[in-house]
Amino acid sequence: MASHKQIRVGDVLIGGGAPVAVQTMTKTETANVAATLEQIRRAAEVGADLVRVAVPRDEDAEALREIVAGSPVPIIADIHFNHTLALKAIRNGAACVRLNPGNIGGRDKVAEVVALAREAQTPLRIGVNSGSLPAHLRDLEYEDPIEALVQAAVGFVELMESLDFTDFKVSMKSTSVPNTIASNRLLSERIPYPLHLGVTEAGTKWTGSLKSAVGLGTLLADGIGDTIRISLSTFQAEEEVKVAWEILKALKLRERGPVLIACPTCGRLQFDMDSVVVEIERRLEAYPDPIEVSVLGCAVNGIGEARHADFGITGAKDAGMIFSRGEPLKKVPTGQLVDELFAEIDRWYAAGKTIVRDERAAAEAAQWLSENEDTSAMTPERLAALEEEAVRAQQAAEAELAERSPVAGRRFSRD
Ligand code: SF4
Repeated sequence: MASHKQIRVGDVLIGGGAPVAVQTMTKTETANVAATLEQIRRAAEVGADLVRVAVPRDEDAEALREIVAGSPVPIIADIHFNHTLALKAIRNGAACVRLNPGNIGGRDKVAEVVALAREAQTPLRIGVNSGSLPAHLRDLEYEDPIEALVQAAVGFVELMESLDFTDFKVSMKSTSVPNTIASNRLLSERIPYPLHLGVTEAGTKWTGSLKSAVGLGTLLADGIGDTIRISLSTFQAEEEVKVAWEILKALKLRERGPVLIACPTCGRLQFDMDSVVVEIERRLEAYPDPIEVSVLGCAVNGIGEARHADFGITGAKDAGMIFSRGEPLKKVPTGQLVDELFAEIDRWYAAGKTIVRDERAAAEAAQWLSENEDTSAMTPERLAALEEEAVRAQQAAEAELAERSPVAGRRFSRD
């Protein structure tokens, strides 16, 4: 269930229907202000709405003042064990403080942090991790780890409410993807507060991105989750942000920059599409609009399923074609496909986001396409389309049969 309550972290709204916010965490020593700010700026450039920094020592809490002043996005202070660091972080301007109420020294110390947070109007993030559950839940954790996580989170929520404090979001992280999904589904039914999602210690860029896409994507598709962080074993925080955005873009929850679509390739491929796709992806990073760019490995299908793309290329051994919204634009030598694609995109921008068509070049491209298209070839795309058609036909036949049934529309009841 989507969260009902909304909080504000700096100028970013979280929960209650606000767009899902993207977070990352710096990997630098926080007290190294120059390095930390540089990483924050890089993360913000690629779309981080919020950045969290670790505050394990006094010097890190001290550095917050300068970091907050120089950061383009709100800063969240990450505190463990030491409630005085949480107090300092609030005094030094952190937009939010992340803490685990179970490990900062008992109710009185939590109450002290809450009192200052209320006075400074600083929201908190209450974090529960599968690796650090309260002692009274250890047995339950063994029998039912999902319920144990949820009970720990609900217990901390009740602690906050007993202190008359509701300006917080909740995170409940596990290294297990199924447990992350199940526990957040359960928690979202039990509390109205915004949820921060993440799969903790997800792994390398490759495995971590996949685990996060499956775990967070499943929850986000259900409308659960208000802010996300992708935890990756990399020193480049911006890589986490890029993955987070791809997940949100794939689910059409938010738009940012171009969307690249590429065919999976098969035995019909006649040019080095691997490096072409990488090159296009890299160059598209410079463009702000959500334009859709499609790369097809051959022209056998015609423009096919890429018909809706704003721009696309389809290649062959010596020549290829650039198209837009299903219409051929020009035929070019394969080696110039990428440069010419970007020349067309730039021309589109220069003309106020309208296509500038050279009719002669377009006719030549259409001719090339008709020579290279093979409507009888059983390509992966056509097989998928045939399968889809067969499923639809079967569903229609079943629906018709059900309508013709002599008992159609009758209600059966044992009452
Ligand atoms: S048939 Fe489809 S998958 Fe194979 S190269 Fe052509 S466009 Fe790509």
